[in-house]
Amino acid sequence: MSLKGKSAIVTGSTSGIGLAYARALAAEGADVVINGFGPADAIETERKKIETDFGVKALYSPADMTKPDEIAAMVKLAADSFGGPDILINNAGIQHVAPVDEFPPEKWDAIIAINLTAAFHAIRHAVPLMKAKKWGRIISTASAHSLVASPFKSAYVTAKHGIAGLTKTVALEVATHGITVNCISPGYVWTPLVEKQIPDTMKARGLTREQVINDVILDAQPTKEFVTVEQVAALAVFLCGDAAKSITGANISMDGGWTAA
Ligand code: NAD
Repeated sequence: MSLKGKSAIVTGSTSGIGLAYARALAAEGADVVINGFGPADAIETERKKIETDFGVKALYSPADMTKPDEIAAMVKLAADSFGGPDILINNAGIQHVAPVDEFPPEKWDAIIAINLTAAFHAIRHAVPLMKAKKWGRIISTASAHSLVASPFKSAYVTAKHGIAGLTKTVALEVATHGITVNCISPGYVWTPLVEKQIPDTMKARGLTREQVINDVILDAQPTKEFVTVEQVAALAVFLCGDAAKSITGANISMDGGWTAA
C-alpha cells in the first residue's frame, strides 16, 4: 500500500509501539511527525534514520501530552509543514501500578491526561483538517485494558476504557467525511512501558521478577507470547489503506487471546 503524499502524527513515538508505527507508516511513504520524550541525541538519531531509511520527511514535536497548547502546536506543525495530518495516531501513554487506596492522585491525573485527554485534544484539532481533505485516519492505541480490568491499574484501565468510548463517538461524528476512527487493543507488548511496571508489580503482589513475567504478564495471554511492536504497527498500516475504509468505530484486539477468555 502506498501512503505517499500523506502525512502522519504519531504521539509517543520516541520509543516502543509509537516508534514502530512511525517507521511502518514511513516505510509506506508517509511523512511523519514524531513526538515523545527521551535524550535529544537519541531522538535526533531516530528522526534522521526514518528519513534515510525510507526517503520521507520526519519532524520532531516535543509536545508534552499533558499540555493542551503544546498538542495544538504539534498539530499545527503537521499542518504548516505537510498540509496534514492525514493520519493521527494517539499512542503516548504511561502506566502506574498501585492499589486504589494508595494510588498517588498526581499519577492518576497524569495517566488520564496523557492516555486519554491528549487524544481528545489532538483529535479536535486534527478533525477539521481531515474534513477539509475528505480523508483521514485516526487510530488510538487502547489496550486489552480497554475491555477488561486488572487489579492495581485503576487509572490506566479507566483511561483505556475512555479511549474506546472516544473512538466510537468520534467515528459516528465523522463517518460521512471519509475519516475512520479506530483503536487497537494490544495485550502485553515487550516495551519500556512493560519493563518499568515489573518492579511495582513485584511489590504490589509480593512476587519475583520471573513470577511477574510468567505468572502475571504472560499468564493473561493464552499464546504465552508477547505481542511485537511490528505486529501492532502492521495493523495500523492496514487501517490506513482503502481495504479498511469500512472499518470505523472498532476496537481491534491483538492480545494473543487474552480477552477471548
Ligand atoms: P513506551 O514507554 O515504550 O512508549 C511511550 C511513549 O510515550 C514514549 O515515546 C514516551 O516518551 C511517550 N510519552 C510519555 N509521556 C509523554 C508525554 N507527557 N508527552 C508526550 N509523550 C509522552 O510504551 P509503549 O508500550 O510503546 O506504549 C505505547 C502505547 O501503547 C501506550 O498508550 C500504552 O498504554 C499502549 N499499550 C502498551 C502495551 C504494552 O504491553 N507495552 C499494551 C497495550 C497498550
